[in-house]
Amino acid sequence: MILVLLGPPGAGKGTQGAKIVECCGVPKISTGEIFRDLAAAGTPLGLEARNYWSRGELVPDEVVVGLVNERISCDDCLKGFVLDGFPRTVRQADILAELLAGMVRKITGVLDFDVDPDQLVLRLSGRRTCPNCSATYHLTSRPPQVDGHCDHCGQSLVQRSDDNPESIRTRLVEYATKTEPLLAYYEERGLLHRIDANGSPDEIFRDLEPALVTMGCGS
Ligand code: AMP
Repeated sequence: MILVLLGPPGAGKGTQGAKIVECCGVPKISTGEIFRDLAAAGTPLGLEARNYWSRGELVPDEVVVGLVNERISCDDCLKGFVLDGFPRTVRQADILAELLAGMVRKITGVLDFDVDPDQLVLRLSGRRTCPNCSATYHLTSRPPQVDGHCDHCGQSLVQRSDDNPESIRTRLVEYATKTEPLLAYYEERGLLHRIDANGSPDEIFRDLEPALVTMGCGS
């Protein structure tokens, strides 16, 4: 199963991706997470990428595609994988299709998480993440059990540096101009499943389970 998660920043791709991983037993590949880890480790590629993502801009296609190609060629991806945050441009989608064709594989389905624009800013500005295990929380709608600490590993939670008002604005514009055209792209190819992502994480997952079942995963 090769699944693509689409939707604007704050739509819940990471949260739902984690639930899908639990249910389907395939790894989730988050390009944003890979960039943050590489930057935290101080690698040249991570530091170069940070120049873009800290401002809310997309990292150039060439940089992202190389990383994704390397990651999806790993043995743990043989059964399938979930792409969270990739592709984000039509060019990336074309290259992904070519890479998969070279492996005699193809995308099983694309889930588009649809959310009211007002909700997005509220979700992003209250979001807190665990720098150790990448679990995500929200100050009001999904607080951790112990204030400021991850429920899973106890690490102190942080606010992503790009979850500030200026970067959020840029990210939403980048999404509207460069990523939204992928909805038509995947719809034309009969792969798109639209999910109403305005509810709570559990409600959203209940709505998307039927789509997972049609793609050969879930109960
Ligand atoms: P995310 O964690 O998915 O919100 O991604 C955080 C940031 O990483 C984005 O705002 C981009 O700057 C960068 N990024 C992640 N995935 C991609 C991609 N597929 N193409 C370009 N930039 C990306």
